[in-house]
Amino acid sequence: MTQTLPSVCPLDCPDTCSLTVTVEAQQVVKVRGSHVNPLTRGTICGKVARYPEFVHGPDRLLTPLKRTGPKGTGAFARISWEEALDLIYDRFSALREEFGAQAILPLNYGGPHGMLAGGSMDLRFFHRLGATRLSRRPLCGGVKEQAFLGTYGAVPTMRPEHVAYARLIIPWGNNVTVSQLHLIPQINAARAKGAKLVVVDPRRTQIARQADLHLAIKPGTDVVLAWALAAELERIGGLDASFIASHVLGAEEFLEQARRVSLAEAASVCGVEERYIRQLAEMYKTLSPAVICPGNGPERNQNGGSGLRAVFALPALAGKLGVLGGGLLQGASAAFPKTPARLQGEALMPAGTRTLNIVTIGRDLLDPHLDPPIKGLFIYNHNPLIVHPDQNTMKNGLSREDLFTVVCDIVRTDSVRYADVVLPACSHFEHADLFTAYGHHHLQRADPVIPPVGESLPNTEIFRRLARRFGFTGPAFEATDAELMDDALALDDARLQGVKPSQLPLEQALPMVFEGGDAVLFQTTFPKTPSGKIELRSTHLAQAYGQPLPSYRPVISNYPLALISPGSDRRTSSTFGSLRYSDDAWLDIHPQDAQARQLTAGMMVRVWNDLGEVHLRLRVTEDVRPGVVCSLKGAWLRTSDNDQTISALAPSHYADLCEGACYNDARVEVATL
Ligand code: SF4
Repeated sequence: MTQTLPSVCPLDCPDTCSLTVTVEAQQVVKVRGSHVNPLTRGTICGKVARYPEFVHGPDRLLTPLKRTGPKGTGAFARISWEEALDLIYDRFSALREEFGAQAILPLNYGGPHGMLAGGSMDLRFFHRLGATRLSRRPLCGGVKEQAFLGTYGAVPTMRPEHVAYARLIIPWGNNVTVSQLHLIPQINAARAKGAKLVVVDPRRTQIARQADLHLAIKPGTDVVLAWALAAELERIGGLDASFIASHVLGAEEFLEQARRVSLAEAASVCGVEERYIRQLAEMYKTLSPAVICPGNGPERNQNGGSGLRAVFALPALAGKLGVLGGGLLQGASAAFPKTPARLQGEALMPAGTRTLNIVTIGRDLLDPHLDPPIKGLFIYNHNPLIVHPDQNTMKNGLSREDLFTVVCDIVRTDSVRYADVVLPACSHFEHADLFTAYGHHHLQRADPVIPPVGESLPNTEIFRRLARRFGFTGPAFEATDAELMDDALALDDARLQGVKPSQLPLEQALPMVFEGGDAVLFQTTFPKTPSGKIELRSTHLAQAYGQPLPSYRPVISNYPLALISPGSDRRTSSTFGSLRYSDDAWLDIHPQDAQARQLTAGMMVRVWNDLGEVHLRLRVTEDVRPGVVCSLKGAWLRTSDNDQTISALAPSHYADLCEGACYNDARVEVATL
């Protein structure tokens, strides 16, 4: 019998599409977009159509496994769930006894973005265990989030649908075609009415090709470009003095910094011609509503927080807020009344529990002075070997024979090869979940559409069973999935309009409502900073990171080429890397840089720096600017002939905010192999 059932895409993507799933004989055979979500309206990206192969393919983990060979070789034997839970209990208990519970670390990230699978019963378990806490946000999105929090506070700015009302749209470091697909119809609708499109990106992406103006900026120089625009706006009378006086804190200090960099200097640092900076400033002054749509690209460097803060300053200085379609399209997390402390059982965590930064866990695994050392690792919702910067350090850490490692995943990832015990997790098609979004304002719920494949279990059930095995009792560990959904959001918040999350109809995407309407910053929502104003000089960022104002530091390196590693349209980070169709491992180089090294298209090259060496096939293209090379992130080790992928070349130093990852600070050289 063929059925079509509703679901929701759980991937790390702002769009959180509603789906229609065709099921035959308890197998997912087709995945299409549905119209439940009014933003995504039946369209999904190409990779998600591959879900049937992902869920039922040869790499699917079907039973618990136990390691039988050296770490990294992937030799395992099947065991029962009871044996697996006993093994974890015995080893973790022994480690707690000898080193203390903080010698155990959960290493999880954003594989699924459902609120239950992403972080609920799992964290209740680890908090009660007393394990080390992991700070996850620095790996991606945290720098941008902190930059925005410091400048505007935790406030939703606008719905993505409002971009259709803009007359000037500026995707800044945002490859919308791949990373925010459903913005494209809004951009097209605005352009059909005459809107202008300006793209800021080191690459000539698909959206950049369609733009009226493309500023192919050097990676990590966003702050300088935004300063130059602010100073130019001031010169041409493009600042809104009255808005600044009423609503902006620190404008004069910000502008003083901006004036210090001449237009010629800014053009040189950013690698963008002066006339284009002037042209953009003129457009920004004259066209309203104007909206900037920043992506996560600008955060992936040591100036990331500063770059985004300076970009966020532009609509405040030019008075672009308070109108439909104007201002900033910024992450939507603050649109939902989330209650993470309740959902994740923060009260269960012992006082004084240490927190480690996800960006540098590879180093921590090898740190002889870390007290207590990490002796037990529980990896889930994550493929750290492929995703983390400084891959070789991570690999050395995972290879430690004295490290007891559990990996829980849907498919046999490269990180699974380093596990002592493997646990098979359900895909989102096999369990219920609740979905907020970071790119729109609709709440959605999904039920399972097929039973668990093999002996796999939902994350919530795995950690319920683990809690029981460890003797953790009480309502926190007995909560059903429906109860967890109702713990995830503030039930009395007006935005939920009286709807209990666990009872949200599957055919409905519930829009969050502000003052009876949509979020429009300075109409229905307002800054939530300590001063109540837009803080270009930020009290929060001064206290938390010693960064009252944005700043700029050039990357100093002996390696001449800047390496960027943006997302692929065939994977979401490393998810779907198991599918052979996603083996798109290339290095893009500008013809000038290729010629200077006597390199030609199609040849195999070595790309290297002090951290590692990666072998890739070369593509010579003007789609990257001179001085920049590009390879897409997330390809699995299968694509490599020397067991290193592009993250092997990414440094693990921190950005200026949030101790964030700096992938785009990688500097490399390229030569023939
Ligand atoms: S990855 Fe993004 S665009 Fe693709 S289906 Fe999922 S939510 Fe939609």
